[in-house]
Amino acid sequence: MQTISILGSTGSIGTQALQLVALHPDRFRVVAMTGHRNRELFFEQVRQFRPEMAGLTEPIPMEEIPADLRFCRWVMGKEALHVAAAEVPADMVLVSVVGIAGLQSVMDALQANRQVLLANKEALVTGGHLVMDAARRIGKPLLPVDSEHSAIFQCLQGAGPNKPERLILTASGGPFRTWEPKDIMLATKEQALKHPNWSMGRKITIDSASMMNKALEVIEARWLFDMPAEKIDVLIHPQSVIHSMVEFEDGAVMAQLGTPDMRLPILYAMSWPERLATGGARLDFAAMKALTFEQPDLTRFPGLGLAYEALKAGGTMSAILNGANEIAVDAFLHDRIRFGQIAQLVEETMHAVPVVYHATLDQVFESDRMARAKAQELLKTSRFAV
Ligand code: NAD
Ligand code: MG
Repeated sequence: MQTISILGSTGSIGTQALQLVALHPDRFRVVAMTGHRNRELFFEQVRQFRPEMAGLTEPIPMEEIPADLRFCRWVMGKEALHVAAAEVPADMVLVSVVGIAGLQSVMDALQANRQVLLANKEALVTGGHLVMDAARRIGKPLLPVDSEHSAIFQCLQGAGPNKPERLILTASGGPFRTWEPKDIMLATKEQALKHPNWSMGRKITIDSASMMNKALEVIEARWLFDMPAEKIDVLIHPQSVIHSMVEFEDGAVMAQLGTPDMRLPILYAMSWPERLATGGARLDFAAMKALTFEQPDLTRFPGLGLAYEALKAGGTMSAILNGANEIAVDAFLHDRIRFGQIAQLVEETMHAVPVVYHATLDQVFESDRMARAKAQELLKTSRFAV
């Protein structure tokens, strides 16, 4: 029996993690969980999973907590993340909050010597060097939940001392893969929120449509697998059957395949190095028509190129990219900019905010704040008017 804290239990990853706990009650017990705004769902979850600690990062008065849920310790505000990550004793901490909010939690959990299951890619994008240092210090691998990184991690289980020569991150290409750039520029929210293969939270769904998600994943892979950017390729694979690949010195390529179902990478991180049943569908090779591949088109998806630019610049440039992107996605979801302007806003912010090298955690947060402020300022200029 292993105990788990789930940060962001009401999200797409969080709810699936809870389903998996319910599927394997003899293996996992939830000891802490946090939600943000969706309090009704969160109350239901607390009622069902009966953790020792529960918290809402968007605070509410204690009187509003239903009487039957007062059996556990309640913590409100940001402190909830800290308590769930580092104070409540747990064998594992699943960080599945969205955005840079995850960075402090990952650092807290690692400093408390916890095994971290990482869904929140923004933590590695913004503070990769700090997170990897902290993980090395406690001597526990950071277990990736992001499907591409889980695929690579799974491929590397059989690699022994052989270091891969190249990582190949696959990408579905999202809903606009075949669209003309002028149409992508004007894509609506409804179109951008309709992902062809995966059902996910709003922010990552928009990131997938702009391919900024793949940009964040290139940076995530750079840190997780200690690979230079030039050895991380992105390959469009619209069927999302191959979740990513690893190439070795002799030319051998290892891949991990499966249906597009996040329960597999979530559960693999929870049960590693063991594998458990997810309850999901199996691949049917005979029914598969074809697996196809294409080069990503950087004129359609300029955001992807920005990842390589950020890694080349080094320092806090990736944190600046991430902060600007969080503002840009939010602005798009609030009809303040056009879809095609997301990457433009990120690029302009990257060119306007000074980069800090060998940054401390506080300096990473400062670069993030500066990027957000600059992006907000750019949003007010006439170029970004809808
Ligand atoms: P989501 O929007 O569905 O859920 C986010 C969770 O974080 C919710 O529980 C919400 O309550 C909480 N939250 C939101 N803002 C917060 C804040 N400021 N402080 C604390 N908590 C906050 O998102 P998701 O799709 O589950 O994604 C979560 C993370 O996992 C993201 O970093 C995403 O990139 C990554 N990820 C998701 C998927 C997927 O399939 N959904 C796949 C790979 C990686
Ligand atoms: Mg992914």
